[in-house]
Amino acid sequence: MQFLKEHSHWRILSDFWQDADMSIPLLIQFILCPVVLISLVWVTAPYGRHHEKGWGPNLPSRAAWILMELPALLVITTLVVLSPVRQMPQAWVPLLFWLFHYGYRTFIFPALMRPSGKTFPALLVLFAIAFNVLNGYNNAEALISAGKEETRLLSLHFFAGGAIFLAGFAIHFRADRSIRLLRRPGEKAYRIPQGGLFRWVGSPNYLGEIIQWIGWAIMTWSLAGAAFALFTFCNLAPRAVSNHRWYRERFPDYPADRRILVPGIF
Ligand code: NDP
Repeated sequence: MQFLKEHSHWRILSDFWQDADMSIPLLIQFILCPVVLISLVWVTAPYGRHHEKGWGPNLPSRAAWILMELPALLVITTLVVLSPVRQMPQAWVPLLFWLFHYGYRTFIFPALMRPSGKTFPALLVLFAIAFNVLNGYNNAEALISAGKEETRLLSLHFFAGGAIFLAGFAIHFRADRSIRLLRRPGEKAYRIPQGGLFRWVGSPNYLGEIIQWIGWAIMTWSLAGAAFALFTFCNLAPRAVSNHRWYRERFPDYPADRRILVPGIF
């Protein structure tokens, strides 16, 4: 152990960890990123169009979305509201951005969606709940420590990050809407989405979500924000690849020049 501690690479790593003041839950979240990326390259998460039998009991899609996302709303709000810095704008202003997104994702998105009746494995719901508790805790810690340290709120990174967050939200909100309008209520068919960013990529909803959480990381200037943005990419990029393949296999007229996730690049 002494040898390892004296070894320069080890020292750089342990110094970085100490300087970064990284908690164990945050370290776990960073470690989860490559694990999730590699797992999802091999196994497509079996919900929605990729649903498969053999993953245990299932839940209806709407209920699954509400159950999965509710902890993301509750954990951070409870921790910030119960903290002594709840009145500090460094804590509650970013919290409003978070609630804006999760209010939409937890209640409005499931209420408006037109699912085909495909169900959602309870196992995935449990995994998502565990992740949302961990992520909510880490991001609450970041907001609370910004409140305690009284970091300057109205900074360049706050405005730039906030603008990127809202741009990302607008992108995934619009893409979610375009996808929803592909079906009339009660319909089950899948169609090729058109218009907006779908002209260039197959999954602009995922692109918008990734952009939004990069904005959050910049706005809060926190490692917790960076861990969430990285996780979102690791979670959604492999699914965008699976969706692209899925469209190509089923729709011979799927636009050949449509990229997977990033216009003109990937
Ligand atoms: P999808 O677009 O695959 O599905 C959303 C809804 O649209 C489902 O009801 C689905 O029906 C329907 N749908 C999808 N494609 C078509 C089509 N071609 N024709 C008709 N209906 C269609 O998105 P996800 O469920 O994967 O994600 C939903 C949102 O949640 C996205 O905005 C995404 O960015 C976000 N998200 C964020 C994550 C994160 O890590 N931050 C993780 C996962 C999602 P059906 O159920 O019948 O397939």
